[in-house]
Amino acid sequence: MKYHISTYFCVVFFALFFAHEAKAQSIDPTPIPLNPAVIKKTLPNGFTYFLQHNSIPQKQVQMRMVIKAGSILETEEQRGFAHFLEHMVFNGSKHFPDNSLIDYLQSIGVEFGADLNAYTGYDETVYMLPLPNAQKETLDKAFYFFGDLLSGLTLNTADIDSERDIILEEWRTTIGLSERLKQAMYPLLYHDSRYLHRRPIGRMEVVTKQGNDEELRKFYRSWYRPDLATLIVVGNFDQENMEQRIQATFGHLQNPENAPERKYYTLPKHSHTLVKIIKDKEITSTSVKIIRKLPHRPEETLGDLRRSVANIVYTYMINQRLTDIAQQNNAPYMYAQSYASSAPGKTERYMSLATVKADLILEGTQGLMRELLRIKKHGFTQAELDRKKEVLYADVERMAQEGDKLSSAQIMEGISNHIVYGEENASLSFKKEFVQTVLDEITLEDIQALVNQYLNQSEDNRVILVTTPEDTQTPSEQELLAAIENIDTESLQAYVDMNVDEPLMETKPESKPIVKETFYEKMGITTIEFANGVSVALKPTDFKNDEIRFSSLREGGYSLATVDNFDNASMAATLVNGGGLSKFNAMQIDRITSGKQVYVAPYIHRYTEGVSGFSSKQDFETLLQLTYLSYTEPRKDVDRFVQFIENKKEYNRNSLNSPDSYFTDQVNKVMMQNSPRTATLLTPKQLDKLSLDKAFDFYQSRFGSAYGTRFFMVGSFCVDSVKPLLAQYLGSLPGDKINTSYTDHGIRPPKGAHRYDFPRNTVDKSKMLMRFTGAYPSTQKSRIEMGLLSDLLTIRLNQKLREEMGGAYSPYASSTVLQRPYSSYRMDIYFTGSPANIDALVDATFGQIKEMQKGIKAENLAKVKKAWLKNREGSLKTNGYWRRVLEDQWTRGEDEQDFERFEEQIQEVTAKRLSKLAKKYLNKKNHLQFILSPEI
Ligand SMILES: [Zn+2]
Repeated sequence: MKYHISTYFCVVFFALFFAHEAKAQSIDPTPIPLNPAVIKKTLPNGFTYFLQHNSIPQKQVQMRMVIKAGSILETEEQRGFAHFLEHMVFNGSKHFPDNSLIDYLQSIGVEFGADLNAYTGYDETVYMLPLPNAQKETLDKAFYFFGDLLSGLTLNTADIDSERDIILEEWRTTIGLSERLKQAMYPLLYHDSRYLHRRPIGRMEVVTKQGNDEELRKFYRSWYRPDLATLIVVGNFDQENMEQRIQATFGHLQNPENAPERKYYTLPKHSHTLVKIIKDKEITSTSVKIIRKLPHRPEETLGDLRRSVANIVYTYMINQRLTDIAQQNNAPYMYAQSYASSAPGKTERYMSLATVKADLILEGTQGLMRELLRIKKHGFTQAELDRKKEVLYADVERMAQEGDKLSSAQIMEGISNHIVYGEENASLSFKKEFVQTVLDEITLEDIQALVNQYLNQSEDNRVILVTTPEDTQTPSEQELLAAIENIDTESLQAYVDMNVDEPLMETKPESKPIVKETFYEKMGITTIEFANGVSVALKPTDFKNDEIRFSSLREGGYSLATVDNFDNASMAATLVNGGGLSKFNAMQIDRITSGKQVYVAPYIHRYTEGVSGFSSKQDFETLLQLTYLSYTEPRKDVDRFVQFIENKKEYNRNSLNSPDSYFTDQVNKVMMQNSPRTATLLTPKQLDKLSLDKAFDFYQSRFGSAYGTRFFMVGSFCVDSVKPLLAQYLGSLPGDKINTSYTDHGIRPPKGAHRYDFPRNTVDKSKMLMRFTGAYPSTQKSRIEMGLLSDLLTIRLNQKLREEMGGAYSPYASSTVLQRPYSSYRMDIYFTGSPANIDALVDATFGQIKEMQKGIKAENLAKVKKAWLKNREGSLKTNGYWRRVLEDQWTRGEDEQDFERFEEQIQEVTAKRLSKLAKKYLNKKNHLQFILSPEI
């Protein structure tokens, strides 16, 4: 079972796989049943397929092919060819000569990159193709594609040669700090194994060496074969027809004679700890990782699944504990986490990591280890266990509730993970019953079995990694090991858990009458207003069975702060929110909402402020209470503030070590013309000047009254049944008259053509951002036009910079239309390339813009329109999209007619109109170039 964890302060996502050992007596060998809605069959040649019918979204069909072959199977002469082959699939095959595949797919609204996608791993290569419909022609072509994939790739020498530069440019995008970290860590993580020498990106010496194309074909013939291929189809299609197609396309394929054996490789064990302290000038913070390699076990039996459930509860508990400790005064580390995850080579990694202060590496490492050993010695408390059981119980309940609302893409993910990682793919109703039963039985002893396996001081298969900025005074590796060994476990006292047994609000506010109510029939939106100047727009939907999206908005924001108070004001929401609400600190609020599906937090942006969150139906009242308290009873927590500032100083001190962060910071400063109102990264000095009192006062000056605020709610509720709650918690918010508009301080980006060079890269690559800005109308129609224009430009940039020149891996353009502080547009063009090549790429970009100014190709316009219409169809079925529509209507003054005309407005855009826009808004004389280039 894959699981997601969330905590109050941070939302962390990671996959949890289960532990590899359990008490022998409790293992139930019954296989986990496959979801009965899935059809799984294998043809005589070994080709396997999975089909599942689903009609969300109504017309679309997801297709995916998993080839159980990746870079691990390459010979020394083929290093990089598994990935190279993945590129060649899109460069000519029996039914799609040259580049016609991408062309065809775009013509039916499939976007390259966004929809059509592929990746190459060590052990598998995966091709994803979402189709806009299941019409005969579309399916014919999709089967040509997947059929060609296994038996019809052209792979001619000229095409292979012209792809070499593109892969080299793809590789270039990966070099830098993260690549150096891999180089440093992998020899420990993949110690002595084949994985160490089979990185999917491969060796550029091999990739760029002309004349080795026969090796590529050899790889193709050896591994792209029916017994290693699995096709997955999820969506709205005719099953019989689909099975006939599969039979006709793949049934006759034969595995190559003398096919090489598909071997699986593992990681060798080591009986000593491998330690490494890694310093790099681009590292921005210091962290310690203690990793244990464990053998992977597939999720096959009910015994396995039971252990999975225990592991999820365990992971919730340990991370809650580590997070709680990080919030205490004199915490030994700034942040910590501990969890198991799957890793290549049939292994799992159990990792405990902590972010520590650079001058306290030994203390921080010891602090983390001490907490882990405390758990080993004293275990968890019954209250900790009960709390997290309750969380998982509710999570599973909710998951099962949404069973009939899963999109085809979500179902596809589940089946794909089943095939690639051996995760279970049981039905949600089965899992709900199983998990809830198992939860009743899990005891502290079950949890302790996992603790004993994960948390110990054994040297076996252990890796310790420290990463820190270059100028850190680090301990030696021996000192680090000794620090971990020499922990006085005798003196470790049991953890004292904190529990809150009080309601969030003792007395509830008095309800106030609704003074006005309007129903907009066409869009199904109700708005209600209260005497305090608060209004609510409500849109009930049936997209999910149990989800309410909630937010509020009013203009103002920190544009209203004085220059002197700018930093306090821009940090105000974060600082105040960390202090808790009413009489409860943040940790206590976390306890009170534990097991509930609810989150809401206040925000203050530059021009707006409000709250943003979500809840289940059942927890909606809690959401309103948290909202009410955010306005009426924010809490000052001096200890938390001091800790926040100290931690932030440590994080920010080295943030600009990262060339990308430095670049973003500099671009921001140029755009704001170095105004003191630039929200820049605060230096330790600036952080020292922050005042909790002033931040709190600014917060109060905005949240002290809700007058003029509009709330938005979208999702599974019925208007009449939520009205009384809204009247009670929102109608009663303080409503003193208050400034409800923002201040425009007149800050505008530089005019004219300018180039800004930031020589900060430590590797041979340059990153270019070309930006066009200026005044522009912010109507729906004008937003559509600018959006279409950037998509058209992206198509051209790919054709020219990538396919023709081989100079950039994935150039693209993106546009936004901003409403505040003035109505304006921004068109950004991004690409990464060789420094020697940057000027040629800029020239080529202007060449393409010039072409667009002369005329827009009708076929390209048709492509981007198709994609827009298809995306719109999907978006209209999500609560998040509707929440944004409601906000837009409120702030831009748009109405039902605009909304209804959206598709029409897309259709009406002409090629002539867009080339006119290109002339006016993509003007060479008025644009900025920002380059992150290599150090001189
Ligand atoms: Zn690639």
